[in-house]
Amino acid sequence: MEKIDLKSLKEEEIKDFLIQIGEKAFRGSQIFKWIYKGAENFEEMSDLSKELRNKLKENASVNNLSIYKKFESKIDGTIKYLFSLEDKNIIESVMMQYEHGISVCLSTQVGCRMGCSFCASTIDGLERNLKASEIIDQVLKIQKDIGKRISNIVLMGSGEPLDNFEEVKKFLQIVNEKNGLNIGYRHITLSTCGIVPKMMELADLKIPINLAISLHACEDEKRKKIMPIGKVYTIEEILKACKYYIKTTNRRITFEYSLIKGFNDHEKDAKILGERLKGMLCHVNLIPINKVEERSFEKPDMHFVYQFRDRLKKQGIETTVRREMGTDIQGACGQLRRKHLSDREC
Ligand code: SAH
Repeated sequence: MEKIDLKSLKEEEIKDFLIQIGEKAFRGSQIFKWIYKGAENFEEMSDLSKELRNKLKENASVNNLSIYKKFESKIDGTIKYLFSLEDKNIIESVMMQYEHGISVCLSTQVGCRMGCSFCASTIDGLERNLKASEIIDQVLKIQKDIGKRISNIVLMGSGEPLDNFEEVKKFLQIVNEKNGLNIGYRHITLSTCGIVPKMMELADLKIPINLAISLHACEDEKRKKIMPIGKVYTIEEILKACKYYIKTTNRRITFEYSLIKGFNDHEKDAKILGERLKGMLCHVNLIPINKVEERSFEKPDMHFVYQFRDRLKKQGIETTVRREMGTDIQGACGQLRRKHLSDREC
């Protein structure tokens, strides 16, 4: 029988599990608290009897990831982690320190099947979905490694969170638990390439997380060229789903727009984008495209990036340029993992 993965369960579910194995429910709360204090095995749960610890070892597990490699920026303290999963797959996560707290960027899948042409995560396609516990454990392992509390989470690492929605939903609930990590929904951002039906489902959950949309183009024909998902859902449909999201959650949407030299950085692009977003509770985050070895895209000169920002601002759209973190430990989405895979293949 497969062991129960306790990190994929909420406190109430762990209590139910304890009842199922003939124990008292309150033991479930004790175990839950131990896990979120960082316990990685049942031996560390010192207020449980030896007998119960043995029973748990037979029926359940509490550990998923181990740090495989880490790279620390000397400029701003950003740390990029490569984690090894129990099946030896590798994922990456990033820890960033800001004035308002510590933020982590988490992966939701091993690889990705969305096929965006500028993104390194998708080059080898999707290997598999992560379990909720494997997403949670990225937070726990980073917290333990740095010895500080993580206050913000962005689901912007490898993978498409809405393509692994069931596990991501569980993750969102677990990470918000009062006796666990207790990270408020307003401190969590989910980024999607725009899987419209799942965006609607997310809105219907009525949990006030921040939703970020990887738009990257202002017209469908252009978007389709770099994002295959654009062939399935139009920008109009995405914007409609965003408006529904705003209505149900009252949260402002972030549109991510990666600027690619000569492709989507023209004056006309800014004009059309501004017109399409006008009047919406939103914000645009411009990202000069990160060079990926396997791809030929270039970032525009910063002068053009600021010009693009100012054009949007003039149209009344709140716009910022993403601050680059950890530039000395370079690696756009999925690049570290890919580098590791190709080193391993050599
Ligand atoms: N699948 C999700 C989240 C993963 S990527 C999504 O599509 O939103 C997080 C963000 O980084 C997305 O906006 C993605 O489009 C962007 N991104 C990926 N590769 C990039 C690159 N090389 N340069 C700049 N942004 C990139």
